[in-house]
Amino acid sequence: MSQKSVVVVGAGLGGISAAISLAQESYAVTVIEKNGHVGGKLNQLEAEGYTFDLGPSILTLPHIIERLFKRSGKRMADYVTIRPVRPHWRCIFEDRTVVDMTPDDQEMAAQLEKIGEKPEDFDRFRQYSEALYELVNDGYFEQGLDNTSDFRAHYGLLGLARFDVFRNMHQGVTRFIKTRYMRDILEQFIKYVGSSAYRAPAFMNCLPAIHSLHDLWYVDGGLYNLARALDRLLDEVGVTVLLDTEVDQIITVNGRATAVEITGGAQIPADFVISNMEVRPAYERLLKEDDRFLRKLKRFEPSCSGLVLDLGLDRQYPQLAHHNFFMSGDQPKHFHTVFRKREMPTDPTVYVVAASRTDPTVAPAGCDGLKILPHIPYIDDENPLRHEDYVAFRDVVLDKLERMGLTNLRQHIVFEHMLTPHDIQDMYYSNKGSIYGVVTDRWKNFGFKAPKKSEKYENVFFVGGSVNPGAGMPMVVLCGQLVSRALVAQDRGVVGAQSAAATRAQPA
Ligand SMILES: Cc1cc2nc3c(=O)[nH]c(=O)nc-3n(C[C@H](O)[C@H](O)[C@H](O)COP(=O)(O)OP(=O)(O)OC[C@H]3O[C@@H](n4cnc5c(N)ncnc54)[C@H](O)[C@@H]3O)c2cc1C
Repeated sequence: MSQKSVVVVGAGLGGISAAISLAQESYAVTVIEKNGHVGGKLNQLEAEGYTFDLGPSILTLPHIIERLFKRSGKRMADYVTIRPVRPHWRCIFEDRTVVDMTPDDQEMAAQLEKIGEKPEDFDRFRQYSEALYELVNDGYFEQGLDNTSDFRAHYGLLGLARFDVFRNMHQGVTRFIKTRYMRDILEQFIKYVGSSAYRAPAFMNCLPAIHSLHDLWYVDGGLYNLARALDRLLDEVGVTVLLDTEVDQIITVNGRATAVEITGGAQIPADFVISNMEVRPAYERLLKEDDRFLRKLKRFEPSCSGLVLDLGLDRQYPQLAHHNFFMSGDQPKHFHTVFRKREMPTDPTVYVVAASRTDPTVAPAGCDGLKILPHIPYIDDENPLRHEDYVAFRDVVLDKLERMGLTNLRQHIVFEHMLTPHDIQDMYYSNKGSIYGVVTDRWKNFGFKAPKKSEKYENVFFVGGSVNPGAGMPMVVLCGQLVSRALVAQDRGVVGAQSAAATRAQPA
């Protein structure tokens, strides 16, 4: 029997994961990527002795990525070195209170004492978070559940009650945690999916358990080395990768994709097409759907975007840990401004990465290279901000950092690079500059992203941050594995395989 062909549009981590998984199942896989490198948002900038991760800087749940290597009988450690980061996060408040989040119980108790949070309350929250994680991991993550009927079938009505369904994430935190400091910190975990703690369902309180159960990791030399490792694996499992090649259209006949058309008009035939381009732009630009169809996707609103500033400094700021949050003085207002009003925040929470705390090779000796990322609204097409607006916002961010202890920061900048939401949109074709795909919002979608299989085209699948189980490196890699499982099940005739859930997972 001849090999069936799969074309993957886009070499983000989700696309790579699906491609490797399907090559391991003996499909002939071609990945087509418009940029000159694989990894998508997992991207790097090297300049003047500094190495910046332009996209992800926090690696969690590495065991999900490791499966890609294991399934080819390989060890991820032979491709890339990862190490745990300590502390996980440093959180700095306007009143100069500093709280480190650390997995060491004794050290954590000392941090809690400093802010007057009772260790037993924190412990109860941790148990709540870990129980939610186990619940979500068992079905939504590992079984590839895509919608409420999948949920009902897997968890049953009683099981659904365990999701704390009547609360939002903020209310879930305040059940256990008394101080504003720790509430702000725990709600900040929603950053991992670019959403608001006041709009996300309470089950997103599973996020802190990702740290407590599975630690927080760094990739030596910068996170982009993970993309390089996966690039090697793509080659070893026989995936064809076409770089600098853009897909303009998915050709369909009678509800089936037959080929993709690349810029210049050439067509590449395919038995299956997987789009790692986000769902909304893919339906609009590749499948040419009309407004009526696109309106059905309204609930899959983009996550927030971000302003990415990379600063090469001629000095170090020793008070910084590897991952730092300069907290907003009014976090509820910050969430409200970015996610409800969709305006630029006047006092944002600012994430600052100083990777040289773990890896001295990423900056010249005695210097810091800082990646700075405040979350801001996605692009409003009707009223887009101008470049000057983002430049003005850069000043708001730098003012805040200087005020909160990075004294004279501006005077020490020797290299600077900035990405606006428009750059992010242009670079990765992300929907309105979104950085985590689809927003997690209990009123809009109850945390569900788009399904993995097209509801309109029999042999078209989607993978990545806009698809369940959603954003972040481990989740899009898991998504690729689940898409592969669903495609194989459909192709080889396992129980209809309308959703991945129907195929029931084998343990990884
Ligand atoms: C600034 C920033 C910080 C982040 N921080 C973290 C973090 O610390 N930890 C974490 O886990 N996650 C983080 N994320 C999120 C994480 O990067 C994403 O969730 C994940 O990498 C997205 O993967 P994806 O598979 O959805 O594909 P993407 O990375 O979005 O890649 C899609 C690819 O498809 C290509 N493409 C699109 N359309 C076409 C077409 N028509 N033809 C050909 N190619 C096409 C694009 O060029 C791109 O390469 C961050 C993201 C950003 C931007």
